[in-house]
Amino acid sequence: MDMNEALKNLERVREQVRRVLRYYVDEGGCPCGYRPFIYWVGKKQGPGWQDNVQNALVKSTLELPFFEKTELECGDWGYSGSWFCRGCGTLWRHISIEWRMLAFHDRLLRKGEEYPDSLYPGLLAMDVAATAGLEPKGLEALSLDQWVEFMMGREYSSRPWRSGP
Ligand SMILES: [Zn+2]
Repeated sequence: MDMNEALKNLERVREQVRRVLRYYVDEGGCPCGYRPFIYWVGKKQGPGWQDNVQNALVKSTLELPFFEKTELECGDWGYSGSWFCRGCGTLWRHISIEWRMLAFHDRLLRKGEEYPDSLYPGLLAMDVAATAGLEPKGLEALSLDQWVEFMMGREYSSRPWRSGP
């Protein structure tokens, strides 16, 4: 993928992420109560790869006007702040770990739901950045379109992760 294509792809991801967040805000006021959301912002990543859709979703969520950074501190590895949703009062912990130079595993963990991986059986985005040899082989992945369906609670279909478009 050349630079132009990569940027175009990132813009497509951001667009769909914003669409999903808008859907939650319109339907429920904020995203905090939606199971697919709790799963996708909080699931584990890597170690040798990152879920680009998850990182974009975490970033856009923290930019929501009713998400507020709090002064809470905690000793978790990679802890980069707590966020309070003024819509519903939920507290989220932001974990950001640099797993490779300038590449991050971003996670948002809802207070009281520190193990969101168990909500769904191991789904990730098809859009992944990986170190050669450490790709998420054998895991089930969603294309960007199918991801939107999943996040909105509609029927979706996954297929085994593979690299490339
Ligand atoms: Zn909320």
